[in-house]
Amino acid sequence: MSYVNGLKCRECGRVYQKEPLHVCEFCFGPLEVIYDYDRIKYVLSREVIEKRPKNMWRYRELLPIDGDPQVGRDVGYTPLVRVNNLAKVLGVKNLYIKNDSVNHPTLSFKDRVVATAITKAIEFGYDTMACASTGNLANSVAALSSEGGVKSYIFIPADLEKSKILGTLIYGTNLIGINGNYDDVNRLCSEIAANYKWAFVNITIRPYYGDGSKTFGYEIAEQLGWRVPDNIVVPVAGSSLITKIWKAFKEFEMLGLIGKVNTKVFAAQASGCSPVTTAIKEGRNFIKPVKPNTIAKSIAIGNPADGYYGIKTVKESGGYGEDVTDEEIVEGIKLLARTEGIFTETAGGVTVAVTKKLIEQGRIKRDELTVISITGNGLKTQEAVAEKVGSPIIIEPRLSSFQERFGGKI
Ligand SMILES: *Cc1c(COP(=O)(O)O)cnc(C)c1O
Ligand SMILES: [Zn+2]
Repeated sequence: MSYVNGLKCRECGRVYQKEPLHVCEFCFGPLEVIYDYDRIKYVLSREVIEKRPKNMWRYRELLPIDGDPQVGRDVGYTPLVRVNNLAKVLGVKNLYIKNDSVNHPTLSFKDRVVATAITKAIEFGYDTMACASTGNLANSVAALSSEGGVKSYIFIPADLEKSKILGTLIYGTNLIGINGNYDDVNRLCSEIAANYKWAFVNITIRPYYGDGSKTFGYEIAEQLGWRVPDNIVVPVAGSSLITKIWKAFKEFEMLGLIGKVNTKVFAAQASGCSPVTTAIKEGRNFIKPVKPNTIAKSIAIGNPADGYYGIKTVKESGGYGEDVTDEEIVEGIKLLARTEGIFTETAGGVTVAVTKKLIEQGRIKRDELTVISITGNGLKTQEAVAEKVGSPIIIEPRLSSFQERFGGKI
């Protein structure tokens, strides 16, 4: 049972059938999935959602699939945790972490978009998946393609973190490293996509893929007791996630599942790759592409596909954009680990450090309810902190050796 009416151009409004398309044939604007909200309103209530299993498919009427999910049955419904220790250090009262560092199966929010994209691709009849990735997408496409019994070709910048490469190869995919940055990879993939009948999850079927991210927003609203936060801080790469969280909140409002949305959406980037936050600071509504140079590789996209809409989302919500240096990113990772016992990757270090900055600037206020988006796991980007955590104390396997080092008697 599908509640999808078709696709619609975000620029000129032209409507298309439910097909594997991603740009408007007339104005080259990006396409967006359109849903039959009148019918959804009739079937989807808080009670209906609450009775369903705790995974992302509890919102399935708002996802662009026709049948049952083909892969990733356990994706989503990750913890939303109140973080009082971190709140105290940052000087606020009402702080939460949405923790996708423990999302299944590959420990990042990308499992949400990929489970949606692969299910849709299988429905369209594709037998081969592909993607251009900064790392987490590679892990997820490889894993979920194995689960779905489909082939996969994955394209990455050749210099990615070791764990992201190993965590892709292990699933037996075709992994292609490109001598270049993500934007070079993406450009090449657009050409390959035009020549091969493959479902490039974030190119060929991007409108369907992107809507998987909405579940990150739905869950936050449900987990807060059917309301939205005053502020949300979101790491930005291609700008898909940030726009879809906003779309999720607005859809819930429209469906009457929550009250009026007055959330401020804040974009977080690394200073070494900040095309979106720089545009916001300079009051521009267009992107000036940059060449990435940061340890936050998972969000290092110099020419973001949805950058324009990312800026628009932030402006419409009354939020702002900030960026942080590589040192601040490392401090952000360590701060979250030491205060809350959550080990996030570099993108999470970005959101924690940006949140700190926004609080210091007074843009996030002491009494407001703020959610920090943690989108990936620290075990995948160990290089970033390897030299910054010290080393174990080595002793001989004897009590005296321990006492020599630590003194005292047991
Ligand atoms: C991909 C990614 C993002 C940002 O995603 P976009 O939708 O491209 O903006 C954020 N965090 C992590 C860990 C990611 O892998
Ligand atoms: Zn158009």
